[in-house]
Amino acid sequence: MPDRHASTATLPLDPAPAEAAAGASRRVAVLLPLPLTGPYDYLAPPELAVAPGSVVRVPLAQRELVGVVWDDPPATAAPEQKPVPLERLRPILEVLPVPPLTAVARRFLAWVADYTLAAPGAVLRMALSSPAALEEPRPVTLYRRCVFSLPEALRLTPARQRVLTELAEGPARTLADLAQAAGVGTSVVKGLVQAGVVEAVEVVYEPRFESPDPDLDGPLLSDHQATAAGALRKAVHEDAFSVTLLDGVTGSGKTEVYFEAIATALAAGRQALVMLPEIVLSAQWLERFERRFGVAPALWHSDLTSAQRRATWRAVAQGQAPVVVGARSALFLPYPDLGLIVVDEEHESAFKQEDGVTYHARDMAVVRAQLGGIPAVLVSATPALESLNNVRNGRYRAQHLPERHGDAVLPEIGLVDLRHDRPPKLEGLGPGWLSAPLRAAIAETLAAGEQVLLFLNRRGYAPLTLCRACGHRLQCPNCTAWLVEHRLAGRLQCHHCGHASRLPTACPDCGAEGTLAACGPGVERLAEEARALFPEARQAMMTSDTLTGPESAAALVRAVQARGIDLLIGTQIVAKGHHFPHLTLVGVVDADLGLYGGDLRAAERTYQLLHQVAGRAGRAEHRGKVLLQTSEPEHPVMQALAAGERDRFFEAEAAARESAGLPPFGRLAALVLSGPDARQLDEAARQLARRAPQAEGVTILGPAPAPLAVLRGRHRRRFLVKAPRGFRLQALLRAWLGQVKMPNAVRLQVDIDPYSFL
Ligand code: ADP
Ligand code: ZN
Repeated sequence: MPDRHASTATLPLDPAPAEAAAGASRRVAVLLPLPLTGPYDYLAPPELAVAPGSVVRVPLAQRELVGVVWDDPPATAAPEQKPVPLERLRPILEVLPVPPLTAVARRFLAWVADYTLAAPGAVLRMALSSPAALEEPRPVTLYRRCVFSLPEALRLTPARQRVLTELAEGPARTLADLAQAAGVGTSVVKGLVQAGVVEAVEVVYEPRFESPDPDLDGPLLSDHQATAAGALRKAVHEDAFSVTLLDGVTGSGKTEVYFEAIATALAAGRQALVMLPEIVLSAQWLERFERRFGVAPALWHSDLTSAQRRATWRAVAQGQAPVVVGARSALFLPYPDLGLIVVDEEHESAFKQEDGVTYHARDMAVVRAQLGGIPAVLVSATPALESLNNVRNGRYRAQHLPERHGDAVLPEIGLVDLRHDRPPKLEGLGPGWLSAPLRAAIAETLAAGEQVLLFLNRRGYAPLTLCRACGHRLQCPNCTAWLVEHRLAGRLQCHHCGHASRLPTACPDCGAEGTLAACGPGVERLAEEARALFPEARQAMMTSDTLTGPESAAALVRAVQARGIDLLIGTQIVAKGHHFPHLTLVGVVDADLGLYGGDLRAAERTYQLLHQVAGRAGRAEHRGKVLLQTSEPEHPVMQALAAGERDRFFEAEAAARESAGLPPFGRLAALVLSGPDARQLDEAARQLARRAPQAEGVTILGPAPAPLAVLRGRHRRRFLVKAPRGFRLQALLRAWLGQVKMPNAVRLQVDIDPYSFL
């Protein structure tokens, strides 16, 4: 959608046009947070200060909705469509008391919608994600002392005295807070109000976050670090669009380096956004931020309460949140003056949003930086092939940190060939998963008083349960997926739809009793084996099932740091960013997991994940050791990991992708059709296939049943569209999909640059 106000500054409000001054209503377009094709026209009454970006309340049918003034005059309807006559338009009801969305923010929303083929209103909805923030804040009642001499008649009980002391020593407070601080009931405070000594005042709070102090001293930087920090500082000073890849080995101090960029943006009076893939698990990061800047940043993620969302949204909009740290949705907050975006762990697939508007937050962060004319910094020890390629072709700058900070060196990585070193069986437990070399290394590390991490990227006890009598496998009733046994929780669970049931005692197919057997290991089963082998070791599990929120994650991280844990067993959650100085052995139980499964990035991702996990070892004075158990030691991923030859691996991987025309050397889009009825769905897919466009260099594969052929009770069919790099894929898709009307029950999801092929 075109936005003709790209260059208009919108803070403060634009000057009202001439007709408005003359007292006439005028036509404006308002984008509503609904999945519609574009904005609707409304009438702006002259008494309302309506400008592009204004957040307004408008009527729609019988409802009232909040939308954003999008264009003025509107460029809504297609040319062949006659605009609704002025006299039939309904008026805007109210301009809400929040700063208007800036021109950059509006262009960004329009850009994302255009690129992802999402409805602009669906993208707007992400930006207006806290409805409460759009309303005038409600006043709160605070209590304060109002006379200084006490009336003679006042009976000064000890309880009353405590309240007065509290008020003499502290600020005005709410009734509950004051009573609690003084250790009295609220009636004591009320009594003082009646006596005329304390008064209640109504106050409107505008949330704000304390300003991080850019002038506090950071650590003394090494030469490499200082060079990289200097380059980032320069990028911020340039006040222009640029992308820098901060490419440094794990433990090289990348965080310290980009903190310097944040300090520079803050010193220039601008906002900074840091995007982290797992914000809920970032307690260590937050502590470091506080140490460096004196205060906590504003957080933005899906676990905030609605009050926190409201406060943060408003503070950001009003420029009162200098640094925002968030998950992907933080990109859509209403920054009035964003000056820097940092994307940490930029290779993480968690940045790809898979439902609703499907977008890659790293890529959209770069777009946001470009539209805003500001620098973006992408940070990783294992950058995405896309990013490395952009450095190679000169689109991105790069800064390298080749060494770990201080005396720490990179760990030694060894391979255990599972074909020769088959894990021995365990007395009473059946199959084992830890090979003799790994067992020996664990024993040695524990004996030295150091910590061990066992990594297995599989939640639960066993990924599959089958009947030994008839071979029946327990499957999710709603999905083409096996049920995963979670023994700690005492149930079977589908990891795709969340379906949960109890483990049956008899086979649901043949009825045999006691024949159901767990197949393969999950972390819970591994923990069982480790307990049997190393009963003395203090164990902890780190998975999304055991870490329920930021507090439990932070508590576990602290326990590991304080050496209250000897043996940590975890899924990919442990791979991320944690710094455990006494952890010197990492055992990867099944390094091959994830290498297969029709995903074009399988090798790249496996490399990245294992490299990150390996990077947890030996981050302080003792050198770390990593053992990868694999059945394919000759696989290029294993070879590259063992030899520490990241760049050679990526060269080879890039060459393979280039010759196959796969991203980043070609373009992909996935279309997923889904519906409750397989026959109707197949018919819809055939309709679509019949109209498939033909274009030079474009291949359309499908329709084919998706690997997850049924998900949440809906059947799924996929198309994959392959096009050369630089091809305008969106235009082709729009023209194609515009010709076919899907039945109501069939949903079509468009995924540009897909990362999931399920
Ligand atoms: P990375 O993000 O590259 O993995 P970190 O920024 O987490 O690395 O740094 C690893 C550890 O080294 C952290 O504990 C960090 O505080 C410390 N560190 C890095 N650079 C310095 C420095 N110049 N002075 C002191 N400590 C540093
Ligand atoms: Zn399911």
